[in-house]
Amino acid sequence: ENGYLRRGQCMSDNGLIQKDRRHLIHSVLSWGEHERRGATILTSGDGVWLTDGDGNRLLDAFSGLWCVNIGYGQQSVVAAAAEQMARLPYATNYFHFASESAVELAARLAERAPGDLDHVFFTQGGSDAVDTAIRLIRYYFNVTGRPEKKHMIAVDRGYHGSSAAGSGITGLAVFHTHFDAPVATQHHIPTAWPYRFDGSDADLIAASVRHLRAKVAEIGPDRVAAFFAEPVVGSGGVIVPPDGWFRAMRDTCAELDIVFVADEVITGFGRTGPMFGSAYDGVAPDVMTLAKGLTSGYVPMGATLLSDRLYRAIVDASGKAVIGHGQTYSGHPVSAAVGLEVLRLYEEGGIIANGQASGAHLASALTALSDHPLVGDVRSRGLLACIELVTDKVAKTRPDPALGLPDALARCGFERRVLFRAFGDAMIGLAPPLISTIDEIDEMVARVKSTLDDMLAIPAIREALNG
Ligand code: PLP
Repeated sequence: ENGYLRRGQCMSDNGLIQKDRRHLIHSVLSWGEHERRGATILTSGDGVWLTDGDGNRLLDAFSGLWCVNIGYGQQSVVAAAAEQMARLPYATNYFHFASESAVELAARLAERAPGDLDHVFFTQGGSDAVDTAIRLIRYYFNVTGRPEKKHMIAVDRGYHGSSAAGSGITGLAVFHTHFDAPVATQHHIPTAWPYRFDGSDADLIAASVRHLRAKVAEIGPDRVAAFFAEPVVGSGGVIVPPDGWFRAMRDTCAELDIVFVADEVITGFGRTGPMFGSAYDGVAPDVMTLAKGLTSGYVPMGATLLSDRLYRAIVDASGKAVIGHGQTYSGHPVSAAVGLEVLRLYEEGGIIANGQASGAHLASALTALSDHPLVGDVRSRGLLACIELVTDKVAKTRPDPALGLPDALARCGFERRVLFRAFGDAMIGLAPPLISTIDEIDEMVARVKSTLDDMLAIPAIREALNG
């Protein structure tokens, strides 16, 4: 009936598809739908290519989940992990212990991060990095005598993970519904979305600043603790704000005495060009969250970076009190060893520079899609891109969910052997590995174009376009 049912037939011979259905809970999908469709089991990877259990070669235009920036199969990373695991597989960051690799990675991140983000708490991923930021900001205001500063604001298309606290900072409804999120201290303002805004870039930035000020006034100026933002909204639809937007929000937060948190879980490590997305607008945040590209997905690791100002205030105010925040795997030595080698590949291996060149090429290759009947907007920064589909280009009409366009895109993309993210409201997200060559970028765009053409062969979609 569809690609999802066909694929996995070989894998089902060894029972994996059935075992998956019975035992493995997947992320962010309909559990019932998944039971019906079954899993695509991925078995190996090399460069920008993945192979599934049926032997299909899939061009990965999404870096796994926008994380495998260095591509698959980098053997020096494997060697770094194996060496660390053989020598010392575990060392705690609890109490006064640390591993060499954790200390070295913290120092190198602090050196490269903008401003005075000198202090690093390691986590296992992005959600607990956001959670750590929330806890430490609460601690900071409580211990420095401003316990009324509890409220946190973010944009309504932002994604900040799915932890119990962070899912309420996330703006996307699917992470709230039936999860009792957000809580009363979590608020959202409209996302700066150039394609869906009627006015100039300057007007859009001014509108965002106005929204933030109005929200702060509504909550009470002395009660707002933090504003969370991604330099480019990722999971909410790769929404690239106007140049200067991040700077304007950062400056407004400084003026209003609000902690500015840059969530760089996606934008960190060259995804948008520079090492950190904040640098694009010359911003030095108070807090930064990282994950994904930190270890390029080879092993789990995230980080929360604190400015020297916040860190010092906590040290001075807390005195000898024990600060009860910690995780067994914080600063895991194997993850840190991987992080060090990945960082070396980004810099000495020229992967960040390659990503910048490929990003510039992606932007120009994507403009060729603008004329496609289904394409309303094409936007990108570096190797982070989105193709937004509409059924009426002039009215910018979002496709009717009943058309099932995101599903059809994912299915036909799979048939074309290209992996991208089909967002719920009919957008195609692209995040190619930073190692992608110009030819590989061209191949990804060509396969995406074929996938878009496949949509025109679906009668209901053709009708929606003509109607
Ligand atoms: N913050 C941002 C901006 C993200 O994109 C993500 C994940 O996609 C997270 C936080 C959560 O990270 P994780 O999935 O590693 O928990």
